[in-house]
Parts: sequence; C-alpha cells; structure tokens
Amino acid sequence: MIRFEQVSKVYPDGTTAVDGLSFEVERGELVTLVGPSGCGKTTTMMMVNRLIEPTAGRILVDGEDVSAVDPVRLRRRIGYVIQHVGLFPHRSVLDNTATVPALVGWKRAKARARAAELLDLVGLDPAVYGSRYPAQLSGGQRQRVGVARALAADPPVLLMDEPFGAVDPVVREHLQNEFLALQATVRKTVLLVTHDIEEAVRMGDRIAVYGQGRIEQFDTPGAVLGAP
Ligand code: ADP
Ligand code: ADP
Repeated sequence: MIRFEQVSKVYPDGTTAVDGLSFEVERGELVTLVGPSGCGKTTTMMMVNRLIEPTAGRILVDGEDVSAVDPVRLRRRIGYVIQHVGLFPHRSVLDNTATVPALVGWKRAKARARAAELLDLVGLDPAVYGSRYPAQLSGGQRQRVGVARALAADPPVLLMDEPFGAVDPVVREHLQNEFLALQATVRKTVLLVTHDIEEAVRMGDRIAVYGQGRIEQFDTPGAVLGAP
C-alpha cells in the first residue's frame, strides 16, 4: 500500500535526513518508525503526503507515484495526526472533526453527522463534547479529536507523528489501547512515528528501527526484541 524505492532527502543546508530508504507497508498494516531524535522518521512520514519532497527515489501509495498526484488531493486520502494536534481553537470539537469531509465537498449536515459518529468511535460523546472548544478539553481528549478528525473522510492511509507524545504515561497507555481497538475495526494502513521503543513494540505489526537516515531493521516486534 505504501512503497518506498531508494528514497533520499537532502535538505538545502546539506543535511542528509534520509538515505536510500526502501521498504513496503502492506494494506491494513500498522508499521511503527522508531529511533532517536533526528534520525529521519518525521522526514520519512512527511514525504508520503508531500509536505516534504524527496531529493531522490520514489514513493508509491496504492500503486500510484505520489509525485504525480496533486498534493491537496493526496492529503484527502491520507489522514495525518501530529503531537500537538493543531485543532482550530475557534471551532467547536464537532466542526473541527468535520473539517475534512467539508473540504472534500460533503454537505454540511452529512459532514456533521459523520463527525459525530467519529467522535463516538474515539470515545467522546458528541452530545457532551461536540459543542466544546479545544481549550475546554484535556490533553487526552484533544488527541482523540485529532484521531477522529484524521479518520473523518475515511482515508485508507493514516500517518501519525508522535500521536501520544504530549500526554502523561497513564493517559498515553490508555490512548494506545484505544487506538489499537479502533484499528482492529477500521484497518487503516498506518505509519506511526515514535521515539519510544515500548510504544513501537506495543503498537506495531512491524517495526522499522532507524539508525541515522536509514532503517537498520524492519521486522515484527518479536523478532526485533529477540535480536542480539
Ligand atoms: P526525527 O523525526 O527522527 O527526529 P527528522 O526527520 O525530523 O528526524 O530529521 C532528520 C534530520 O534532518 C535531522 O538531522 C534534522 O535536524 C534534519 N532536518 C529536519 N528538517 C530539516 C530542515 N527543514 N532543514 C534542514 N535540516 C532538517
Ligand atoms: P484525560 O485522561 O482524557 O487526559 P483529564 O484527566 O486530563 O482527562 O481530564 C479529566 C476531565 O476534566 C475531562 O472530563 C475533561 O473534560 C475535564 N477537563 C480537563 N481540562 C479542562 C478544561 N480546561 N476545561 C474544562 N474541562 C476540562
């Protein structure tokens, strides 16, 4: 579903962030990208939805070279969740969640009905939380809205960059388990960036272990943990 072929990224200042990456993520698979800060995980992820352009190689999503797809159209098919969610502060939780369906041209009533459904799915009662504003939510609740918003237009692919990084460890474990339960039903193709090996092991069907700009191991949690 996602395929990297010899992909490199050298930033204008000469920093090589990613060096000849090749790997493949199957449909419905959750792959975690793990490694220390600065090893190229975020760069890898942001090339999938063309927030960053590679300097060499190519990336295919569902068989299509992303460099040939209009970035706006591409991002409608790829949900994106980041650490500090980036909700619109002056829009209600329901309107935040309905952002993407509204952008892709759904009628307002349909977009809001879909948003309510998604809030329910991530454990936020829309009747209680739909009319609140982001500042009136806890950190964990904001992350849930971020996930609901990313799923709202039903994209086949989901990119998650440290999605549970901004909350305390107890809430984090709760959100991780919630997301795994959700993923068991929605079966998105997911790339999840983390610097936390425990999270990588708990969440990943497979794990890409990064060294500097390269994937050093790409395997199941059991195999990664069993490695010498
Ligand atoms: P990670 O997500 O693993 O922390 P990044 O992909 O953010 O790593 O960064 C990989 C490398 O690229 C780092 O050395 C980082 O400093 C560098 N880098 C990231 N963004 C830029 C940029 N816009 N310009 C120059 N160097 C960058
Ligand atoms: P979580 O485990 O989801 O992070 P918290 O323990 O942080 O939740 O918050 C507990 C409750 O307090 C939640 O039901 C949330 O609605 C409420 N809450 C947290 N912050 C605020 C706020 N700034 N305004 C109103 N309610 C809040």
